[in-house]
Amino acid sequence: MSKPKITTITLGCRFNSFESEMMKIVTSQSSDPDNIVIINTCAVTQEAERQSKQAARKAIRENPDSKIVVTGCAAKTAQNYFENLDGVFKVVQNEEKVTVDMSQISASPLHLFDGRARALLQIQNGCDHFCTYCIVPFTRGRSKSLHPDIVLKQVDYFLHHGFKEIVLSGIDIASYGKDIIEDRSHDLATLIEAILERTHLAGTRIRLSSIDPAAVDQNLLNLFSDEARIMPYFHFSIQSGSDEALRAMRRRHSRDEVIGICENIRRRRDGVVFGGDLIAGFPVETESMFEESLRLIDDAGLSLIHVFPYSARNGTVSAQMINLPGNVVRSRAERLQGKAQAAKRVLLQSMIGLTTSGIIEKIDGSDWIGKTDSYVPFRVHGGNFRPGEVVHNLRITGISDSASELTCIPDLQ
Ligand code: SF4
Repeated sequence: MSKPKITTITLGCRFNSFESEMMKIVTSQSSDPDNIVIINTCAVTQEAERQSKQAARKAIRENPDSKIVVTGCAAKTAQNYFENLDGVFKVVQNEEKVTVDMSQISASPLHLFDGRARALLQIQNGCDHFCTYCIVPFTRGRSKSLHPDIVLKQVDYFLHHGFKEIVLSGIDIASYGKDIIEDRSHDLATLIEAILERTHLAGTRIRLSSIDPAAVDQNLLNLFSDEARIMPYFHFSIQSGSDEALRAMRRRHSRDEVIGICENIRRRRDGVVFGGDLIAGFPVETESMFEESLRLIDDAGLSLIHVFPYSARNGTVSAQMINLPGNVVRSRAERLQGKAQAAKRVLLQSMIGLTTSGIIEKIDGSDWIGKTDSYVPFRVHGGNFRPGEVVHNLRITGISDSASELTCIPDLQ
């Protein structure tokens, strides 16, 4: 009798990717004899929710003999829809999802992130901030930190499976530890220190997922600047360069604080790269506020920018606000994207001739592609590498035709 097939379909954020990996392993250990398809949905925008519904209908059509399980954030925002959708076996809310049980994971023949370059380390879930445009606190609940012991068990697991790079991931990692009431000494900085100590001998590279600039305190600044094994790329959830727009978004940082953090780290660490998320066309955004977002890219020296055209998400505070005309939102997103691409080109140009190190992610034709320590995409022609391999002597020779990545050769001098 063949083993039941467990398939995961994941939409949305890195965090969903982590949970899908976990659900696959835990579900593969259940006694259920049937094939199961788990759709881990996203609801960060109306469009994401629409795509999640589409993915569920497609999975039902293509897997008539499987049990279809719908989970993730759209399982909350579109619960009625999925519960009444013919062919859905079960709707599982985020809070009912499997929790991190490393003994169960370690016992499985399946491995988390098998064949991937880096491992995602879940440290926290949920969020307490209720930014006016965001649905996440309603779909993932309040911020909940994993106890450091459980986090370190995950670290041990990834060390055992030979991962050279671990990414600290969560919904709002900067809030780590605030809810661990029995021991108030825990925060993101103390957790990073514990992970650095645990991985000292292995020399594991530590990467951080997106960080709330409002929570970057002196301890984190010192770690980001002084710890060589913390990869020199910091991505901030900035959202706007205008303090007025930030207040309307209920963000907790100011424009000058973002500039200050970047300047502080740049003064103390060579080769550091900064990135961030920026929303274009938030309801209250005037042309001059928008221009402050454009200028922030230069003023803070941001190079890898994710641009999000604003779209109202039902159930959020900003969905009650009067939207800007669609063509204004689109044109601002295009202008911001243009500025972002120009900033990236300047960065890539400035790295030509340097020798750097990075991690190989996958093969692409006869090339290997990866990311430098500072999270800049690169391409190496030929060579005999494998995903997850750290390469130290990459000489940067130029920029690829698509202008989206560096071209490198292994420097065998
Ligand atoms: S910090 Fe704001 S944007 Fe981020 S998940 Fe929380 S509410 Fe959403």
